[in-house]
Amino acid sequence: MPRKTTRSVQVGPVTVGGGAPIVIQSMTNTDTEDAIRTAAQVADLARAGSEIVRITVNTEAAANAVPEVRDRLAAMDVHVPLVGDFHFNGHKLLSAVPACAEALAKYRINPGNVGRGAKRDEQFAQMIEIAVKNDKPVRIGANWGSMDQELLAQMLDANAAMKNPKPLDQINREAVIKSAVDSAARAVELGMSPNKIILSCKMSRVQDLISVYSDLSSQVDYALHLGLTEAGMGSKGIVASTAALAVLLQQGIGDTIRISLTPEPNGDRTKEVIVGQEILQTMGLRSFTPMVTACPGCGRTSSTRFQELADRIQTYLRDSMPEWKAEHPGVEDMSVAVMGCVVNGPGESKHANIGISLPGTGERPIAPVYIDGEKAMTLKGDHIAEEFQSIVFDYVQKNYTNA
Ligand code: SF4
Repeated sequence: MPRKTTRSVQVGPVTVGGGAPIVIQSMTNTDTEDAIRTAAQVADLARAGSEIVRITVNTEAAANAVPEVRDRLAAMDVHVPLVGDFHFNGHKLLSAVPACAEALAKYRINPGNVGRGAKRDEQFAQMIEIAVKNDKPVRIGANWGSMDQELLAQMLDANAAMKNPKPLDQINREAVIKSAVDSAARAVELGMSPNKIILSCKMSRVQDLISVYSDLSSQVDYALHLGLTEAGMGSKGIVASTAALAVLLQQGIGDTIRISLTPEPNGDRTKEVIVGQEILQTMGLRSFTPMVTACPGCGRTSSTRFQELADRIQTYLRDSMPEWKAEHPGVEDMSVAVMGCVVNGPGESKHANIGISLPGTGERPIAPVYIDGEKAMTLKGDHIAEEFQSIVFDYVQKNYTNA
């Protein structure tokens, strides 16, 4: 699916937009003042596949910690670009701590939280000037939870004076877009190259997000950061993000994505990275890790054996990827099927690179294995899982190793 944005932006070594592969990004939830924990979480996110990681920069101590976070990551051989998330006092922090401005690969500016009244333009200009001086790109990230209230009030007044006023929701959507687009135009007037600007207009409702990004993308050619803000927890957050992003990505809209999942207390922050990868991979837009096709199981499966095997193989493939990425190029496109019985098992197994069909209720206790569409062997006994995993590994070594 060709992307609509033709402009590209360089965020450290990562290209966003201009037809480059859609970039996965994420954000830490540690206190940035704690450089040790922040660096550790950035490293976790990067190792899970986040290609850009954003960190909050909300205090002078946090700004002072940013170079240390960067250094700690370098010591761990993690070179993911760091983005500073600024609200309210970004102009002060970037001015007061030049080493922070230098260590970051991009600054996120929320036009709704830059300042009020006459100070707003001045503080926005200050941040843009620092970005230009340091040759850094910015994301102008409007969010309907932190709308530019002066702009919104003006638009509401103008709407109220119309003969046929538009619905309030529509004015909200138009205001988010206008806030981002006008701020980008102002940044360009201040000397920033359009090739240094990424835009986002985050909404928390699926239909609003689709509507806003469809309009935004028809108005501008800036690289677009896409994400449903405050998507929520668990399956609701995943489903809502997927529903919104899939519609837009399918239209070629969106150059980098972030999935804003609320983790369970003490939950794994890397889940948002995996969900982002799975959205792109299941849509056929990018490949990150071999995918397991598994049937849902039904009354023909009398045990949890095949679910356990599917889970084991998916975990094994994902865990192996950091090593395999370098040693076995192309392995991310491999497909593996783990099926529960003879009904769809052999057929689905033949479509995968490697597939196994476990015995359903009443079937002979054997598990035929298919490799590249041909039945290659039959497994039986108590060690089917281990044997199948070893067959997968042999396949990887044989088919995805550089000569
Ligand atoms: S492949 Fe067999 S076990 Fe799996 S859902 Fe279909 S009929 Fe049920």
